[in-house]
Amino acid sequence: MKNKILLAIADGLGDRPVECLGGKTPLEYAKKPTLDDLAANGSSGIMDLYKLGTPVGTDLGHMLLFGYDYTEYPGRGPIEAFGEGLELEAGDVAFRVNFATVDSELVVVDRRAGRIRKDTDKLALSLNGMQIEDVKVIFKEATEHRAVLILRGPGLSQDISDTDPKVEAVKYKEAKATTPTPEAEKTVRILNQFLLNAHKMLLQHPVNKEREAAGEKPANFILTRGAGIMPNLRKTADDLKIRAACVAAESTVLGAARLAGITPITDPRFTGNIDTDIALKAKTAVDALKENDFVVLHFKATDLMGHDNDPQGKVNAVETFDKMLGFVMEGLSAIEENVIVALGADHSTPCERREHSGDPVPVVISGKNIRKDGITTYDEMAAARGGLNRINANMFFNYLMDYLEATKKVGN
Ligand SMILES: [Zn+2]
Repeated sequence: MKNKILLAIADGLGDRPVECLGGKTPLEYAKKPTLDDLAANGSSGIMDLYKLGTPVGTDLGHMLLFGYDYTEYPGRGPIEAFGEGLELEAGDVAFRVNFATVDSELVVVDRRAGRIRKDTDKLALSLNGMQIEDVKVIFKEATEHRAVLILRGPGLSQDISDTDPKVEAVKYKEAKATTPTPEAEKTVRILNQFLLNAHKMLLQHPVNKEREAAGEKPANFILTRGAGIMPNLRKTADDLKIRAACVAAESTVLGAARLAGITPITDPRFTGNIDTDIALKAKTAVDALKENDFVVLHFKATDLMGHDNDPQGKVNAVETFDKMLGFVMEGLSAIEENVIVALGADHSTPCERREHSGDPVPVVISGKNIRKDGITTYDEMAAARGGLNRINANMFFNYLMDYLEATKKVGN
């Protein structure tokens, strides 16, 4: 019987010794019987995402875990677009954008249009499909005041400046080329024209008329940032001919998955926080193993607690992650497949740092056919003594793929 793999990722899991936890890391301090069991039944190691001492973002971290090289990173814009369910083509330029409010002089009154939450789909629909020269505009709403803008056409460039001034009470910034190429000049011309066209259409839009009548700020302008051009990128799951799925709440993670040819699975009950429905997430992941060889199960709260410098909160998050894995193991005991369970993280988010750091993260590969290395707990210190030694995310991914017999033999 062929193996299948479930990879559980605790976002930002790695940490440093914390005084109020008696000099232990949150992972060392937490009660986590299932995670420890998994470590005892397999091989542990410590993982740098790609380079020792180099922090990575959640987007790149997941791309590395899905088998990409760091040079293939297409920028935040394209990954966000994939996260919103759009499929980019090579040469598309994607932007992260806000609905904003400007006055008649185009001075930004509110960068988030009064934190608009409702009807942005209707506003987006009025902009989507606009044609400027030989370039097509694709526009889709995202959460709250955010949206995604894509310019699709020949000869475009990502080398253009942000139009979001990042502060209020100043005029929006016209886009400018950051390299003197015809492609950048063309993209600037199209984008600046789009912003004015969009402003005109949004001013007239019934949704904004209603907002103004209700005393709310109209969403009458689009501010752009983070231009990224979509490279001709392989889909790692298709390359390896594996069927893969990713269960997550966070659009960045779902975007990196879709990019890689990994089917994104989400649900409104997955919140991306500690109150996420862990029983449903575990069940969804176990069910996905019927149709897939490789299933990723993502958990976000560990990272949030690191950013908040909340060590006890991170302990609670680890214990919640452990409970989720408990549900997973229960689910797996009821199915016939031989499922290897792997544990990993996309980067460390130490509480003391309140940001991502380059500290390596602990990993485990566990199952009845995995070598047992004598490590019996899952934490940063124990993992560093494990049989996988010190590896990077690509090595980790390759090793997992070899258990799926997806990697080619080298030599004869
Ligand atoms: Zn992350």
